[in-house]
Amino acid sequence: MNNDDLVSKSSYSSKYQNIEELKKKVLPCTQCGLRQGCSKVVFGEGNPDAGIMLIGEGPGEEEDKLGRPFVGRAGQLLDKILEAGGYDRFKHTYIANIVKCRPPKNRIPLPEERLTCMPWLVAQLEIIEPKIVILLGATALQGLIDPNAKITKMRGEWLTWQNKLVMPTYHPAALLRNPQLKKPVWDDIRKVVAKYRELIDPAHVSPYC
Ligand code: SF4
Repeated sequence: MNNDDLVSKSSYSSKYQNIEELKKKVLPCTQCGLRQGCSKVVFGEGNPDAGIMLIGEGPGEEEDKLGRPFVGRAGQLLDKILEAGGYDRFKHTYIANIVKCRPPKNRIPLPEERLTCMPWLVAQLEIIEPKIVILLGATALQGLIDPNAKITKMRGEWLTWQNKLVMPTYHPAALLRNPQLKKPVWDDIRKVVAKYRELIDPAHVSPYC
């Protein structure tokens, strides 16, 4: 094992401990009303040393049952999109949401709920320090970048948030409702793959780009 391996292993281990410490604080959170109507706080999962962090809107029914993000139909589609880019969700990404508790009947989280939950997400971003953030859908875009932003206008363009590159794209649930959105999402993922090779791993292999 060389020095680089040791450095990267120790950084991984301290990040892992930090994210686990944060998780212990978030799981008992009752700071907004969403906690009353859900069964589990869905903290997020993935590799805390990942170069890519994905941010969605909030847990749905399946996610609420299992306490894991993106495990329903939209999550399965997200896995396929990631695979097409050469990414394994547990190896190359960390996945979280704007709110960590399921809104009743999957409604869009209210502005005050997003604001209350935001410090947890910011803490995740600070620990993981991804080079690339992918925002999945309007709520993620509005939550992190601008409450008035329109996903239809801003998707596919690189933005920045605290020195991190941010790519907004459509939420996989939108693709399930409207398959015509698959093409623009694929265009956005190709941009992510190109940037990933530039910033993180020049040898990254993707089956399609
Ligand atoms: S949604 Fe966020 S702020 Fe609200 S109770 Fe759940 S973890 Fe806490």
